[in-house]
This record gives sequence, structure tokens and C-alpha cells, in this order.
Amino acid sequence: MFRKILIANRGEIAVRIIRTCREMQVRTIAIYTEADRGSLHVQLADEAVKCVSRAGYLDMDWIIQTALTMGVQAIHPGYGFLAENPLFAEKTLQAGLIFIGPDARIMTLMGDKAKARETMAAAGFPVVPGGSGIVRSAEETLPIARALGYPVLIKAVAGGGGRGMRLVLEEDQLFQSLESASSEANACFGNSDVYLEKYLEGCRHVEIQILADNYGQVVTLGERDCSIQRRHQKLIEESPSPALTAQLRDRMSKVSRDAVKAVAYRGAGTLEYLLDKDLNFYFMEMNTRIQVEHTVTELICGLDLIKEQIRIAAGEPLGYEQSDIRLTGWVMECRINAEDPVTFLPAPGKIDVYRPPGGFGVRVDSAAYSGYTVTPFYDSLISKLLVYGRTRKGVIARMQRALAEFSIQGVKTTIPFHQRILADSDFQRGEFTTDFIQQKLDSEN
Ligand code: ADP
Repeated sequence: MFRKILIANRGEIAVRIIRTCREMQVRTIAIYTEADRGSLHVQLADEAVKCVSRAGYLDMDWIIQTALTMGVQAIHPGYGFLAENPLFAEKTLQAGLIFIGPDARIMTLMGDKAKARETMAAAGFPVVPGGSGIVRSAEETLPIARALGYPVLIKAVAGGGGRGMRLVLEEDQLFQSLESASSEANACFGNSDVYLEKYLEGCRHVEIQILADNYGQVVTLGERDCSIQRRHQKLIEESPSPALTAQLRDRMSKVSRDAVKAVAYRGAGTLEYLLDKDLNFYFMEMNTRIQVEHTVTELICGLDLIKEQIRIAAGEPLGYEQSDIRLTGWVMECRINAEDPVTFLPAPGKIDVYRPPGGFGVRVDSAAYSGYTVTPFYDSLISKLLVYGRTRKGVIARMQRALAEFSIQGVKTTIPFHQRILADSDFQRGEFTTDFIQQKLDSEN
């Protein structure tokens, strides 16, 4: 096992990784920028090194040099920043260090959504219908869009966080959307390539968590329903999905294990699917990192996914198989962001009072505390509030109790938004698709 790990990240996920490392008796090196000098991850790590370059958490060479100077054996990238950057994985390896994640080859493949789709389709897996490959001009796009039929979705091959994506309802919006998707993709990812997918209406976002070791053992840990989204960004996640039967779960899990084996994946990963109302599912993309919502799965299966990632990277076998995995109860997560609960505009600032909820069945993952300042430079996630229990109904009541107990003063948060969703009768019945929030907003106006 590693003696020391550098965490190339910040905020709640850095804290999350430090906690597991401490339990594993692995020492941690945190890195931080000037804006983050008050962050909890800096205080909790065994040692912390300040980054003065403008690139901050994206400065690959500085991070690797720091890792070498500090004598670590491995780097954990968390999520975001360099977590899905194959060049960083490669550079880490070349420096004689271990990257806690899959190899650069698979990150390159899955990092290009168009290629990932084609690979999965070629291997016989169900994918969202779409045009094969990148569209470069209006002339190229038009026949593909017509063949798919409107609405279509223009997506950035390098996309993430819902950026570089445009819904096209009618043909006269096509070219303008192509332009704007492409330029947003260029601005966000330095890659303007886009491709087309059929926009599947009235679907749920259901994703399957997998773990794969170096010795061919692959397990799935059930699903997460992440349909409650705003502008393609997840806000509430739960497991199990209210839409899945045991048979469908088994089928989606089996397809996911087969897909992972087909591409010789190693580490923790997630296969994202759209599930239509007739319960057909279509592969959307694979995320080759630990995801924000991995915590939902941890509470459903009882495994520490960060620990599993570290063990796999250190070359340990999983040590269990699919029949050993038990999924019990119900789990729900609300992402509490420092945002206006109506406009969703970021609301950075100083948190005067931070008093998280507690009690039976409650977990809070956060890097915040009273006196902490949410900076405008990074994402606006303050806390992940999770509750678990035996039934969905009980979990909703517990989440409502926990949200009411959560006191964050000084910055605006999305807590009131979550309270509205939790009180909604369709949500309570488990009846929702990815359009849910938009539909509710439309019906209110
Ligand atoms: P990102 O990586 O930017 O998050 P994804 O490909 O994961 O992008 O898609 C984000 C969300 O956008 C999905 O959860 C879903 O709600 C919606 N979406 C993506 N592709 C489609 C599609 N073809 N049809 C309908 N909705 C889609």
C-alpha cells in the first residue's frame, strides 16, 4: 500500500479523500491556491503545499514536481480539474508515480463522446441514436439532423457539466445552435468539435457504478437515478431508481460489466444511460473518474469507493465478486450549492453560520464551516447532503427534516429549491424525467 498520496484537488472531494486515507494510514499532501488558503482540505491533510502559478489545480508539471519533492507514491485527481485528462495520467506515470484512475488509453477513448458512442455501438451495446462522428459544417449537419428527426441535440465531444450542448427543436435553429455549441465547447474545453444525437424526450438519467481490478474482476454496485437536473446539471440523485425493476437492474448491470470488460477498463467508473418510458436504455457516456454522487452508492452498498480506487491502483485484487454485493435500503442526495435558489446564479461570499444536520440516517460531505468563504473562482458546491433509510417515503421525510435543520447563513443556497422539489407530489410518487424541473418552472410561469 502507498505510504503517501498527493491530492490534486480541493474542497469537499479533497476532504473526502483525506478522510479515507487517514483510515487507511496513508499520509496525504494537499495542494491549494491563494483563494483556497482557508479551505478545510488544507487543514485536514498531513501536509499542504501552496501553488502560486495561475494555472492552480490545472498546473500538471507543478503538481507532478510537488509530488516528487514530497515523496509520494501516487496522485488522486478527485473529480473535475485533471481527473479525466489523459496527458496528466501519462505524465504522472512517466514521472514514476501512480495515477489513481484508469489508464490514459481508456481516458482518451471515453473522453471523446463521439468515439465512445461508436466504440460501444460497434461492440453491440445499445447507444443513443446519433450521427457517426464530428460535424464540421452546416452542409454536413443538415442531412444528419433530418435523418435523426427533430428534436436533436448538438453535443461537444469533449463536453462535461452540460456545457457545449444545444437542444434543437426545429430546423431553423440548427445552424445557429451549431455555432453556439461549437464556440462554447471551444471556450470551455479548447476543442470545438461537436456531433449530433437524437434528443430522447421524457427519459430518465440512470447510471451504473462499476469497479474493476487489474485481474479481470468487475462488479457493478447498482444504479443512481440522476434525472433531477437543471440545464443538464444534476441536483438530486437517488438509489435505487424508482423506475427500475430487479430484472432491469440486472440487465443494465450485466450490459455495463460486459462493456467494461470489452474495453479492458480498470478502476472506478460510471456508465451513463438514458432510460425511456418503455424501459429501453441507451448508453450516453462513460465517466472515468470518481463522480460527485459516488456517495449515494457508498451508502447503498456499504463500500468506501475512494478506498476501493486506492486499493485497485495499488494493485490489490477486489477480493469479492458480484454475488457478494448487497444493495440495501434507499439513499437520496441533495447538492447544496452557493447559488440563488431561483435564478441559480452563483452566490459566493462568507458563510457566517454553518450548522449541518445530523442524527440517524444523515451524512454530510463538505469542506465548509462557520467563517469559511465560498470563492467565486471554483464551483459553487458547498455540501452534499445524503440521507438513507429503508423506504423511499421514509427517506423523503428524513431529507425534509435534514433540510429544515441545515442552517447556512451569509450566502444564498439551493436549500429552498430542494425543499420545493421534495414537497412536489410527482417527485414524491417517483414520477419524473430529466425535463422535470423545466416542466415545473414552465407550469409556474
Ligand atoms: P455532460 O457530460 O456535459 O454532463 P451528458 O452527456 O452526461 O453531458 O448529458 C447530460 C444530460 O443531458 C443527461 O443527463 C440528460 O439529461 C441530457 N442528455 C444528454 N444526451 C441526451 C439525449 N440524446 N437525449 C436527451 N437528453 C440528453
